[in-house]
Amino acid sequence: MIRVPIVRPALGKAEQDAVARVIASGWITQGPEVAALETETAAALGAAHAVCVSNATVAIELCLRVAGVKRGDDVVTVSHSFIATANAVVAAGARPVFADIDADTYGMSPASLESAITDRTTAILCVHQIGIPCNIQAIMRIAKSRGIPVIEDAACAIGTAINVDGAWQRIGRPHGLFACFSFHPRKVVTTGDGGLITTNDETMATRFRLLRQHAMSIPDTVRHNSSQVVFEDYTEPAWNYRMTDLQAAVGRPQIARLDEIIAERRAIAKHYADALSAQTLFLVPKERPDARTNWQTYALRIRPNAPVSQREVLQYLVDHGVASKRGISNAHQEIAYRDRSTWACGQTPCAGCASGGRCERLLVSEDARDSTIMIPLFHGMTEAERDHVVTTVKTLAAKYA
Ligand SMILES: *Cc1c(COP(=O)(O)O)cnc(C)c1O
Repeated sequence: MIRVPIVRPALGKAEQDAVARVIASGWITQGPEVAALETETAAALGAAHAVCVSNATVAIELCLRVAGVKRGDDVVTVSHSFIATANAVVAAGARPVFADIDADTYGMSPASLESAITDRTTAILCVHQIGIPCNIQAIMRIAKSRGIPVIEDAACAIGTAINVDGAWQRIGRPHGLFACFSFHPRKVVTTGDGGLITTNDETMATRFRLLRQHAMSIPDTVRHNSSQVVFEDYTEPAWNYRMTDLQAAVGRPQIARLDEIIAERRAIAKHYADALSAQTLFLVPKERPDARTNWQTYALRIRPNAPVSQREVLQYLVDHGVASKRGISNAHQEIAYRDRSTWACGQTPCAGCASGGRCERLLVSEDARDSTIMIPLFHGMTEAERDHVVTTVKTLAAKYA
């Protein structure tokens, strides 16, 4: 039986040659390849500056710090995300205050954001979840009226675009103050591990470059190439959040073919939507007219009151060779955030939270986790794999028609 994984990194000769080139060069940590990946990605996304770091989690943490978030502050974000989103807020010393999501985008609900802002809120961290753009324009309007900086967790969203006043703009331009991307293999472009920050502010870009490398006043690349003796200073306590040149070299050919990668993924998503339009067990995702999603993940909603559980659906898919996952988790339902004093969803606990039940302010998030399933969609997928996914989902749906 054919087995379809949830993702398979599409790396080939271009990436192998790139790694070989870096090894032969004798410079393998952060250096010219990182600088080139930054320039090329900034151009591809329409941002003035891009800064590579070790992963998206530390990218978000650095962004929060550089945006001015301090210990004891509140950061409004979503619970409905990979746990790294909430963890990055905690790493920056702040408390995550969770807003609910909109059911169609899986991203922050602007109305819920308004009610989650506290007098200690110093940043808003929204997520373009599974590559679907959140309602960033409405979020920006709220943030601007309150003077609060917005950081976009765009870990999943490289290549996704939104329509702004009739023109398509890629996520990461950025629309907020900073946007953060991940190059983990589960994402659309991968370097094994890796992260990237985009900004249009040159001073901020310089600051990120300083902080990712121990606040070393003169980078090692500059000292290495200098014929003069130079001594560097360390101007403040900082971090090692570098990406290596080996990693950056793997990313560059993928950024070069980003348009093709997105086109291929969108064609598979269209095939799924067409092929699954007649069945009624699952609701197929509908793209807003002002969004062009990269389909980092393809999520199906189990119809309300369906005669089959999420667990049974997932088990059927596994049994028939289709890797799948349940909906995105909610940080507030994980053990790490079980202690309610470490997070908030508003000023006072709701009756649900107080009684250990459902959080009344995060009902859409809780429903999304428990009614959504993810099916395989990745570039490089064969037609046989794609067709096996469709046949399996349709056969399952037919049992409950
Ligand atoms: C994957 C992911 C992250 C973390 O990315 P890493 O590069 O693995 O640190 C953060 N936020 C979201 C929404 C993600 O999907």
